[in-house]
Amino acid sequence: MTQSLSPRVEAVFWFLLTATGYFLLASLSLHATKGADNIAAVWPPSGYFLALLLLMPSHARARLSAFAGMASASFAANLWGGVPPLSCIAYTLANACEAAVALWLIRRREVGELSFMVPRAVAGFCLAALGASVVSAAVAWALVEGLTGASADFFLSWLTTVLLGMLIVTPPIVMLARMIGTKAMDNASRAMKAEAAAILTLSGLVTIAAFSQSEFPLTFLPCMAVVAAAYRLGPFGAAAGMLIVTIITSLMTGQGYGPIAAIEEASKVKVLFLQFYLLSLLFTTLPLAAMLIVRQRLAKRLEQSNRWLLQAEAAALVGHWRVDLVGWSIRWSDQAYRIHGLVPGTPVDVNYSVEQYIAEDGVAVRKILEQAVRTGEPFEFQGRIRRADGEIRHVKSHGSIETGRGGRAIAIFGTVQDVTEIVENARILEAARSAAERVANTDMLTGLPNRRHTLAFLEKALEGAREHGAPLAVAIFDIDHFKRINDTHGHAMGDRVIHRVGQRAKAALRDEDMLGRIGGEEFVCILQRASAQAAEIVAERVRKAVETGTAAEDGLPQATVSIGLAVFDGELDIEELLHRADQALYAAKRDGRNRLRMAA
Ligand code: GH3
Ligand code: MG
Ligand code: MG
Repeated sequence: MTQSLSPRVEAVFWFLLTATGYFLLASLSLHATKGADNIAAVWPPSGYFLALLLLMPSHARARLSAFAGMASASFAANLWGGVPPLSCIAYTLANACEAAVALWLIRRREVGELSFMVPRAVAGFCLAALGASVVSAAVAWALVEGLTGASADFFLSWLTTVLLGMLIVTPPIVMLARMIGTKAMDNASRAMKAEAAAILTLSGLVTIAAFSQSEFPLTFLPCMAVVAAAYRLGPFGAAAGMLIVTIITSLMTGQGYGPIAAIEEASKVKVLFLQFYLLSLLFTTLPLAAMLIVRQRLAKRLEQSNRWLLQAEAAALVGHWRVDLVGWSIRWSDQAYRIHGLVPGTPVDVNYSVEQYIAEDGVAVRKILEQAVRTGEPFEFQGRIRRADGEIRHVKSHGSIETGRGGRAIAIFGTVQDVTEIVENARILEAARSAAERVANTDMLTGLPNRRHTLAFLEKALEGAREHGAPLAVAIFDIDHFKRINDTHGHAMGDRVIHRVGQRAKAALRDEDMLGRIGGEEFVCILQRASAQAAEIVAERVRKAVETGTAAEDGLPQATVSIGLAVFDGELDIEELLHRADQALYAAKRDGRNRLRMAA
């Protein structure tokens, strides 16, 4: 406001501004609303001066000029109002003290600008005003007591006067000055300005109406007007409304109008009544305005977080939904609609939502939801939905139960995510993994399990046999005189014979038996859950199948196998068991081939 002025001009500016305003307000209060002991009902100059102190630059020269302005104006106005000169000095001193104390208390709490938009800061301001008023009343009372012998009521009356002056006058002046300073006024729309003007004018008219008569106790009407101003215009509305009501009620009561003036009591009592009327009005509207501003802020923040949530949902392709268990309705977020292939806002109900799942998944979903409601536990489920366009999509939901009073479930809240791509990718990966595993475990020539896989299988079977006593037998077989086949018919034909022998042997085995190729023309049969006798029968069947099968095959040379069979006998590892089978195989070869020998 005074940035471009030289320090001296600035000091003069603050002196004049303080002195003029203070003198006018003080004279007006003294003449129009004079109460007992020459104390006005409300002392607006205190509020005006405090507002200037809060608005002015904080350097000493400006402050000193303002204090000088205030002191001269206070002395002059009191003297003009008929106060004895010594009392004028005492009053002036008390008012100067109170301003200094208020400023000090406010600056102690608020490092930056005091904001009347923050409930905590408003409370701090009220406390500072109260503290300052107490100091002011104490100073005034102590001095006046010494001078003229003031009554005890003087203290209370002075305190209330000053407190009201600060609480009612400071906020609207500070807010208005800041609005003008920050161009908030220019930004406000014409409609907002018109509404503010209308509400404040109406507050004035209502107050005039209530205080221009004394037949009806209409003192509650201004209260409603201020509440309406607070509701529509926030803290500024509350402060401005309060100021208007104060000015009108003080002036009219001072002039003998209105319900308070009509009370048949001493003027001292009337003034006290007016003061407490204004205080109660203030303490009804101030908290209301503060609460309103908190609520408005919360609503704004809520709206903002909601916007963020919707954006985050759209980016993450996650939607949310909420089932109201009391009203049995469901709400979907925009993204939830998109996941279901529906236009956001389309009406949906709970049954429809569950029916989106294909039949078997819908049953599971219902079960999970019912259980969650029963136990109150968080849940998750995944299922397939048939979208509006007929496409099947995999969706995953996480949810939790909202409880009301007494822990009763009142709603289910959940997120929903389209995981089709994840499911498909997992399926492709799994297919690739199992194909790779198959290749790693399979012998390419015969399609049978290879050596590594066969021996791993045998390892497991041996563990089972040792731990649970499950029957186990191993048969190793080897094609007889295979070198000859190779030599006579060539290596390729040899390969075909190996393949054919594998197939024949496999066909002769039971489903639970395993056949693998463990070497060039060597195979292993792992016979589980078979007694020694049964194993022998199976092995013999293999031998026979190879012998007859290969013989019948056109174009393939005759081949036979020799088999060594060993029944598990408490061996500690597969090498031991295989060694016994190998010994038996060696015996079969030695005894003339194409035969089965049991290990010892
Ligand atoms: P025996 O009756 O004593 O078993 O006589 P054999 O001639 O079969 O002797 P052995 O089992 O020691 O010979 C195995 C031969 O099998 C040696 C090798 O040339 C041949 N062989 C090993 N792997 C393959 C293969 O993958 N394909 C072909 N065609 N021949 C193989
Ligand atoms: Mg061999
Ligand atoms: Mg051989």
